[in-house]
Amino acid sequence: MKDDMRFATRCIHAGQRPDPTTGAITTPIYMTSTYVQSSPGVFKDGYDYSRSKNPTRQALEDNLAALEGGVRGLSFSSGLGSIDCVLHTLKTGDHVVLCDDVYGGTFRLFKRVFEQLGLTFTRVDMTDLDATRRAFTDATRLVWLETPTNPTLKIIDIEKMAALAHEKGALLAVDNTFATPALQNPLRLGADIVSHSSTKYIGGHADLVGGALVVRDEELGEKLWFYQNSVGAVPSPMDCFLQLRSTKTLHVRVQRHCENAMKVAEHLASHKAVEKVVYPGLESHPQHAVAKKQMSMFGGMITIYLSGGLDAARRMLERVRLFSLAESLGGVESLIEHPAIMTHGSVPAEERAKLGITDGLVRLSVGIEDVADQIADLDQALA
Ligand code: PLP
Repeated sequence: MKDDMRFATRCIHAGQRPDPTTGAITTPIYMTSTYVQSSPGVFKDGYDYSRSKNPTRQALEDNLAALEGGVRGLSFSSGLGSIDCVLHTLKTGDHVVLCDDVYGGTFRLFKRVFEQLGLTFTRVDMTDLDATRRAFTDATRLVWLETPTNPTLKIIDIEKMAALAHEKGALLAVDNTFATPALQNPLRLGADIVSHSSTKYIGGHADLVGGALVVRDEELGEKLWFYQNSVGAVPSPMDCFLQLRSTKTLHVRVQRHCENAMKVAEHLASHKAVEKVVYPGLESHPQHAVAKKQMSMFGGMITIYLSGGLDAARRMLERVRLFSLAESLGGVESLIEHPAIMTHGSVPAEERAKLGITDGLVRLSVGIEDVADQIADLDQALA
């Protein structure tokens, strides 16, 4: 099996083998809802109904498990679907420690859906270990974090958070959407669950919405599968096929995203219209040392603060030509957005202010076009 090989090889081969019927090298799109049984209850390899198991999805789930260094992957119809699945494993009265700067939709899921069902949660700045320790209660069962965070790109020390969570008898889940397994492997740093919005770098081409979970414990994997199958937020075989096609190039795409972002960040850092650039690869980043420790490169996301506030941000966002003004991130094409109005509009204004999501904050998802064209576009938009 090729699953024990190096990352680039796993991207292309893990979970996949020539189709047993025809020898097709590419895993087919098994557009089937059901499977013929030879006798009631007698079917092959767990294939009885496609919500429970589908060969294209299985190949993707095995591929993602191998990329994250886990034993079980589960694929979902959206990133929020994957988070929802983890939260379903909790019970009324359970408490979650949540990092303060999460994707707006993740916050909304906790606040507006699961709080009503009796979960409680405390948001905390996880770059502050003491504050995080104080956020635990006797009922804490789960710690949920993103690193780099969205959109302020804080870097949270996964190893330290795993040790703290385990000391307190809780599981650690890491949303690895921004870093991808190409740059960071939370399971190897002690996390129990990795979550993805595959809509982003895993899909990588802005043509699908998807999510994934990977775990390093068989029993936890089986429990999550129970909820995946019971709740039913599974992806179509077509979307699984697209993601499998995308993970074949994950390593090369992410490398170029990072190289371009580093150059763009360095350029913007000396631009007079830009008050501050936040990029984990810059030495000026407050957690640059942690980023160097747990990431192999620094990602494709950059956050900038413009000196002229909302007016300056609006002007820039209306003037870009190569960067597209759109939500989402992680695709081959460069995107730019205004979190306070767009992706983080569901975070209350006072919370946004506390987190530093100001009206002058602009988030860039640096694509893999020629970096000279990216820089020229940003320069003309800021002129
Ligand atoms: N996690 C992160 C870090 C995200 O940025 C997003 C979406 O932007 C999600 C989760 C939710 O994923 P989806 O939009 O695929 O449901």
